[in-house]
Amino acid sequence: MIINLINNDYKFDISNTAILFYPRISVVDDSDGKKLTVSLDGNTAYAEYNDNGILYRSNSEVDDSLYDGPRCACVRVAFDVFHQATGLRPPWGLLIGVRPVNFYLKMSDIHGDSCEEVLEKSYLVAPEKINICRKAVEMRKSSVDKLSEDSYSLYISIPFCPSRCKYCSFVSYSTEKEKKYISPYIETLCSEIKKTAETAPHRNPLTVYIGGGTPTCIEDCLFERVLNQIRESFDLSDCFEYTVEAGRPETITEEKLCIMKKYGVNRVSVNPQTLSEEVLFTAGRKHTVQDFFKAYSLAKEYGFDINIDLIAGLPLETTESFENGLKKIIELSPANITVHTLYIKRAADYGLDSSLYANTDPEAVTQMVSTACNLLEKEGYFPYYLYRQKNTVGNNENIGFSKKGKECAYNIYMMDDIQTVYACGANAMTKIVKNGSIDRSCGTKFAYNYIRNNGEKNK
Ligand code: SF4
Repeated sequence: MIINLINNDYKFDISNTAILFYPRISVVDDSDGKKLTVSLDGNTAYAEYNDNGILYRSNSEVDDSLYDGPRCACVRVAFDVFHQATGLRPPWGLLIGVRPVNFYLKMSDIHGDSCEEVLEKSYLVAPEKINICRKAVEMRKSSVDKLSEDSYSLYISIPFCPSRCKYCSFVSYSTEKEKKYISPYIETLCSEIKKTAETAPHRNPLTVYIGGGTPTCIEDCLFERVLNQIRESFDLSDCFEYTVEAGRPETITEEKLCIMKKYGVNRVSVNPQTLSEEVLFTAGRKHTVQDFFKAYSLAKEYGFDINIDLIAGLPLETTESFENGLKKIIELSPANITVHTLYIKRAADYGLDSSLYANTDPEAVTQMVSTACNLLEKEGYFPYYLYRQKNTVGNNENIGFSKKGKECAYNIYMMDDIQTVYACGANAMTKIVKNGSIDRSCGTKFAYNYIRNNGEKNK
């Protein structure tokens, strides 16, 4: 597609909008017979779109009450001609590359009671998505109230997994193949935890989150070494939420759960991603549905708050199998259920072999997400955080649902960038949040370099 601009400079936003409608399009050549012209003349934006000889037109007034009125009008007319040509209407409208809850709050600050009208009319956000944002804003309140000026959270990364899932785009190492790195990695990690506590303004994190990877896939003694280092380095008396993302059910054992209990962990993720055996197998996960139920009931016996992750859009998942799986999970009554949308990145196997997800129908994935929203709300779960990534199937979002009072505060703080996070480990991002600005520094991406650099961070 060729994009011509007249009197405006919004190619980046307009290109991203084109990709919403035509996910595999190139916006730098015209071999597909598509040409878009967007012009800004005085107070009006115009779009003319030629799709293989069929012409679509749109125009819209610039709304001066918007902080980005001219940009918004230009992108809106582009959105409109693509809508006319395809019949599609991406439900997040013009919100690309922004965090929906943060944007809702910003609009609410600027426009007060008419915020939702502005989101719907000017930014073309569908009412059901506005509804999710409103609920998430309500649900996050009690966690936000716990923040004080110098409070912070602690994130620890253990980037190893029993095997690599085919959709994975994280930097994570299979314990089988990269076993030799685990022990030196944990040593480096423990010294970084110690150093971090020494440089933090005080030693009392509000929340702790151990993620990865699958932190529970390492040997018990190494796992305990990390939890012990955290306890020795920090004062956990103010820490009201301590999560371990156990993730893969086959790594959850009585021994691991006992260690977690001993060190004050109170929240655990047990993630089947799907309750279909064939979907699990195709995704390269080396556990069964039965493994998940066993791990869940074991974690429940130990009294943890449990989060369960599901992915909408995995190859071979149907709307029926997704809904059936979700219903079985709701019957378990976990504290949190997080619904992710499959997204494809080059680092993942699915990114390398497009035939693996070629049959994933975006409309079906959109239906899975919408079924999840409806079913979960009926059963007393409410959205409390959400984020969107590029390249998700059907341009859908990831939503964390929670029973009231069981929201994961760390997810809210981290996702909305409203609290400092000290992060230790390879590829772990420390964010110092101060006076509305964020200073970021990241641990070396790969575990072997992290070990070699002694855990030094890159700015
Ligand atoms: S469990 Fe998570 S981090 Fe590990 S390979 Fe699978 S998707 Fe990647």
